Amino acid sequence: MTSHAELIDGAAVADAVRAEVAREAAALLATRGITPGLTVVLVGEDPASAVYVRSKEQACKEAGMHGETIRLPATTSQAELLAVVDRLNADPAIHGILVQMPLPKQIDAQAIIRRIDPRKDVDGFHPENVGKLLIGDADGFAPCTPAGVMVLLERYGVDVAGKEAVVLGRSTIVGKPMMSLLVNASATVTVCHSRTRDLARHTAKADILVAAIGKPNFVTAEMVRPGAVVIDVGINRVEDPANKKGYRIVGDVDFTGVSRVASKITPVPGGVGKMTIAMLLKNTVRAASVA
Ligand code: NDP
Repeated sequence: MTSHAELIDGAAVADAVRAEVAREAAALLATRGITPGLTVVLVGEDPASAVYVRSKEQACKEAGMHGETIRLPATTSQAELLAVVDRLNADPAIHGILVQMPLPKQIDAQAIIRRIDPRKDVDGFHPENVGKLLIGDADGFAPCTPAGVMVLLERYGVDVAGKEAVVLGRSTIVGKPMMSLLVNASATVTVCHSRTRDLARHTAKADILVAAIGKPNFVTAEMVRPGAVVIDVGINRVEDPANKKGYRIVGDVDFTGVSRVASKITPVPGGVGKMTIAMLLKNTVRAASVA
């Protein structure tokens, strides 16, 4: 059977957002002499984090922004990292600060997040920004991945108001901010997690289904209402001897099966993942414009 769902092309939307950001950055430079600056702090040698950090730096450069990475050893103490955050908070050339997670275990991640000036917290994880998102204050910064989902829905003409939205996952990074963004956009939102009973009963009523649980191919066609819009946030490595890396990346949604029943669907890769860095750049330009 052929696929029926329209593909939501995250790569194309991310490129469009990045082009908009580049125009805004150029305008800021021309009118106010400001080059938006993002500093990423990487502690330790986590290989996946190192890849993310390099792409963030590259994306900044492409958008005409100042992007720098501070690389610290895995043995960095909490006091040393707090001192770096304090220095960046005080630096007027830096508009966005991102401390790459996970941090080594001697460092309390919450203490670091709380130390970042909320006006420079372009990741949207500081409690002040989390609170602003919950009360619907657009002055704050929303976390990049769920904010990117909202942009995908908007650019693909999905009217969220009044819709049944079901979010799978309740993390601080994706599930909970996704819930806030959807409810602020007037959806009726259900949040499911590992303790949810009869999950398929919830997913079956979703007009918009967002999967962010980190379980490969978890959402199957039988769980999805025909015509639903399905957004797959999951990024999972599964073994694949046919691939020269020995693995491939799949989402939380069984793409082949679900694309036969959904009306629109994001692929993995090439869907939500591409939006995260684009939204990070967007938040940084906004931080610079109000600095
Ligand atoms: P977490 O591990 O922090 O959270 C997972 C959530 O899913 C938890 O709330 C957990 O429930 C719930 N969950 C786990 N198993 C089940 C299950 N069987 N049934 C129902 N709920 C379940 O993950 P993240 O939110 O950080 O990430 C989720 C996925 O999104 C991952 O694949 C990650 O790689 C990806 N991701 C992608 C990004 C992107 O840029 N596209 C950015 C961030 C994440 P409970 O709370 O009860 O434990």
